[in-house]
Amino acid sequence: MTTTIGIVGAGIAGLHLALYLQKHGIGVTLYSDRAAEELSSGKLPSSVALMGATLGRDGELGTNHWERPELGTFAVDIRVAGDPPLVLHGALTQPFLFIDMRVYLPTLMKDFTSRGGKLVVARCTAADVGRLAAGSRRCSRVSRSALPTSSPSAGSSPGSFAGSASRTHS
Ligand SMILES: Cc1cc2nc3c(=O)[nH]c(=O)nc-3n(C[C@H](O)[C@H](O)[C@H](O)COP(=O)(O)OP(=O)(O)OC[C@H]3O[C@@H](n4cnc5c(N)ncnc54)[C@H](O)[C@@H]3O)c2cc1C
Repeated sequence: MTTTIGIVGAGIAGLHLALYLQKHGIGVTLYSDRAAEELSSGKLPSSVALMGATLGRDGELGTNHWERPELGTFAVDIRVAGDPPLVLHGALTQPFLFIDMRVYLPTLMKDFTSRGGKLVVARCTAADVGRLAAGSRRCSRVSRSALPTSSPSAGSSPGSFAGSASRTHS
C-alpha cells in the first residue's frame, strides 16, 4: 500500500514538512485554507524573521530563493527608555532573513506543486481529519462567513468554494 500523508495548513511548518516528505518520496496532500494568489494579494499575515534553523531547512529543501550575502539582519540593537536607558547590542552568529510572507509562502507552495505535490485549497475542520485518514480527499463544505478575511484576487474569492469544498492545485 502506498502511504500518503495529509497535512492541514500551509504555513512555514506545513510547507517544510510537505517538502521534506516529498523529497523522501512520500506522497503528500497539503490542505490550505487559502490559495497562493489569495495569500499574495492579501494582507501581510505577520512579519516573520526566518532564523538559522528555518534558513537551514530552506537550504536543504532547495527553497531558499533569497540566499545572497547582502540580504539579512546581522545585529540587533534594543533600547529600553529609562534613566539611564537600558541599551543592548547583539551581533547574530546566524543572520535573520525577513521575506514578506505574501511572497515566501506562495513561492514554497509553487515549489511543492511544481515538484508534483498536491495542494488542495480547503479549510478542514477537526472532524474532517478523521475522514481524511479514512481515505477521503475532501474537507467538508465551508460557508463564506467561516473563512478568514483576506483580499482575494478576482476569481479566487471564498465564494468560488460554492458547489465544491475544495480546489486542487498541482
Ligand atoms: C506579528 C507576528 C510576528 C511574528 N514574528 C515571528 C518572527 O519574527 N520569527 C518567527 O520565527 N516567528 C514569528 N512569528 C510566529 C510565526 O507566525 C510563526 O513562527 C510561523 O508563522 C508559524 O508557522 P506555522 O506554519 O506553524 O503556522 P502558521 O503560519 O499559522 O500557518 C498555519 C497555516 O494554516 C492555515 N490554516 C489554519 N487552519 C486551517 C484549516 N482548518 N484548514 C486549512 N488551513 C488552515 C492558516 O491559514 C495558515 O496559513 C510571528 C507571529 C506574528 C503574529
